[in-house]
Amino acid sequence: MAIERTFSILKPDATERNITGAINALIEKAGLRIVAQKRIRMTREQAETFYAVHKERPFFGELVDFMISGPVVVQVLEGEGAIAKYRDVMGATDPSKAADGTIRKAHAKSIGENSVHGSDAAETAKIEIAQFFSGNEIVG
Ligand code: ATP
Ligand code: MG
Repeated sequence: MAIERTFSILKPDATERNITGAINALIEKAGLRIVAQKRIRMTREQAETFYAVHKERPFFGELVDFMISGPVVVQVLEGEGAIAKYRDVMGATDPSKAADGTIRKAHAKSIGENSVHGSDAAETAKIEIAQFFSGNEIVG
């Protein structure tokens, strides 16, 4: 399998509880490398653009409000099959359905405040990385 890059966000519920290091430890234990990382506060416009695919969903307003409610850590992760691997490490969107050993099982508070985001496909990974990082900020 090829070396890929995926985009990750440690969401406001993670920064609020000071568990970004605990989550990074699970990411690294899975064999993914954090090749770019910065702590930012998303603007409403950035969050709306980022989650535009969900704009017709009933939870869209709540999701955007949550994503701008505190700092987030945006990351680029690199590794063999990184996109699917990180989705596995994250676990199901709803933490009550997430498998043992996953980030969301261990840390997520609810289906909305679920600690992490990870890209769902190669094309979205590319778009999401470019929304938050310039090429010289990614050091593999
Ligand atoms: P993400 O895109 O953040 O990695 P995901 O791909 O597992 O998560 P999506 O279906 O893309 O899940 O939903 C995006 C985000 O919207 C979820 O991570 C969660 O924060 C929020 N969300 C999804 N479903 C609900 C819901 N029913 N109620 C509240 N928030 C939700
Ligand atoms: Mg998603």
